Amino acid sequence: MLKTKNYEFWFLTGSQDLYGDECLRIVAEHSHKIVDALNESGKFPYPIVWRPTLIDSVSIREALAAANASPDVAGCIVWMHTFSPAKMWIRGFNEYRKPLLHLHTQFNRDIPFDTIDMDFMNQNQSAHGDREFSHMLTRMGTPRKIVSGHWSDEKTQERIADWMRTAIGALESRSLRILRVGDNMRDVAVTEGDKVEAEQKFGWEIDAYNITDVDEYVRAVPEADTNALTDEYYDTYDLITDGRDPAEFRAHVAEQAKIELGFRKFVEEHNYHAVVTNFQMLAGLHQLPGLAMQRMMQDGYGFGAEGDWKTAGVVRLFKLMTAGKKGAMGTSFMEDYTYHLEPGNEAILQAHMLEVCPTIASAKPAIRVCPLSMGDREDPARLVFTAKPGRGVACSLVDLGHRFRMIINEVECIPQTKPMPNLPVASALWRTLPDFRTGTEGWLMCGGAHHTAFTYDLTRENVVDLCDYFGIESVVIGEGTTVESLKRDLMLGEVYYR
Ligand code: MN
Repeated sequence: MLKTKNYEFWFLTGSQDLYGDECLRIVAEHSHKIVDALNESGKFPYPIVWRPTLIDSVSIREALAAANASPDVAGCIVWMHTFSPAKMWIRGFNEYRKPLLHLHTQFNRDIPFDTIDMDFMNQNQSAHGDREFSHMLTRMGTPRKIVSGHWSDEKTQERIADWMRTAIGALESRSLRILRVGDNMRDVAVTEGDKVEAEQKFGWEIDAYNITDVDEYVRAVPEADTNALTDEYYDTYDLITDGRDPAEFRAHVAEQAKIELGFRKFVEEHNYHAVVTNFQMLAGLHQLPGLAMQRMMQDGYGFGAEGDWKTAGVVRLFKLMTAGKKGAMGTSFMEDYTYHLEPGNEAILQAHMLEVCPTIASAKPAIRVCPLSMGDREDPARLVFTAKPGRGVACSLVDLGHRFRMIINEVECIPQTKPMPNLPVASALWRTLPDFRTGTEGWLMCGGAHHTAFTYDLTRENVVDLCDYFGIESVVIGEGTTVESLKRDLMLGEVYYR
C-alpha cells in the first residue's frame, strides 16, 4: 500500500489593517469556522491548517516563505475575506513555489435582504477583494487553481479535495526518481524524450544502470525468501497452469518472485520510485520482469516498458495523487493494442506483453506462465485478469522535440463479457470518448503514444491542472471535443508553448 507523507495545506485569509481590530477579529472568526467546517466534512485527503489573517506585505511574505520552507506543507488555499490591496502580495508571490488554490467564496451564503447594511457589506466583500487579488496573480502569471462557490457547498468542497490530489502530484514530482535498466526500445520514436528537459519541467531524476547491476541483487535473493514469496503468490492468486507440469510451473513463478525481491531491494537501497525495463536488454535475467513489475506497480511504483520513462513517471504521479482515495478503482501502465470495429460498438483492447497493474482488476487475478511473443528469454509468469468497468482517463506524455505535450483521453472501460481464453495477458476493453472516430483521429492528430498512464480515479481537470503547474501543454479529447475544436487547440498550443 502506497503511503504518502503527512502533508497539510495552509488556509491563508487576506485582509488589511484599515478595518480596525473588531473587524479583523470577525475576519479571523469567519476563516476559523470555514476551516473547521471543511476539516469536519471528511471530504479532504489532507488536513487544512488555519493560519493568522494576513494584513500587510511583511506578514504575507513571511507566511508564504514559511509555506515554501516547510516540508509538511503541500500548498496554500488563499481567500480574501475583505479587500486586501494586492500590491501587498507581490513580494510574497515572487518567491512562492508551491501549489496554490484561490478559493473564491464568501462567509455568508445569502444576502439578508431585510437587514443588510454597510457593516454586513464590509464583512462579506470577497466579490470585491478576490477580484483585486486575482488581478495581481494574473498580471504576475502565477499559476493557480481557482475554485468558486460557497464553502459549504458539496461540489465546492469536492473540487478543493480533487485539487489537493493534483497538488500532491505537482509537489512530489520534484523529488521523483526513475530507474532505467533498459534504454529506449531500438528504433522506437514515441517513447524517447529529453531527460534534461524533463528534470527542468517536472523535477524528475532519470538514471540509467546496467540491468546486470539489478541482476546481481536478483541472484543474491536467498532461496528461502523466494520460496516464501512464491507461497504468498500461490495463496493470493488463482493458478492457470495450462496443463504444465506443476513443478515446472512453480519454477517459472519462483523466478518472478526472485526478480521481484531483487528489484525491490535495489530500488529501496537506491531510492527510486519508478522502474523502466526493456525486453531487448535483459542480460542475465531469466525472464522479462512481469508478475514482479505488476506487483510493484500495485504497491505504487511507476512503471514503463520498452524504456518508456515518461509513462513510468506519469504512472507514479497518478499513484501518488490517488493514494488512499476512498473507492479508488486503480491506476496502471497501459497500451493500445487491438481494435474492435463492430459498427456502433467500437472499442480498443488494452493490454501489454505482461505489465498491467492488478489494481484495475475486476476479480482475483490468476497466474499464467506462457511464452513471450517477443524476446528470447524463458516463459515469464504474469498475472492475468480483465479490468473493472468504469470511466477513467488515459494519458500520454510525448516529447515533440522542442517541448512536452500531455494528451488526455476520457475513456470508458466496458464489461468484458466474452472470455478470451487464449489471451495470456491482462486486459481492459474501453471506449474512447467522445466517440471512436473523434477519439482515435484526435489521438493521432495530437501525436499520442500507444503507451498510456491510465487511471479511474482522476479526472481530466486533475491532469490539466497538473500540466498547468508544470507549464506544459495539455490537450483533452473527451466529452465535447470535436476534430475542429481540437485542431484549434493544437494550433494555439503551437504558438503559446513554443
Ligand atoms: Mn509497449
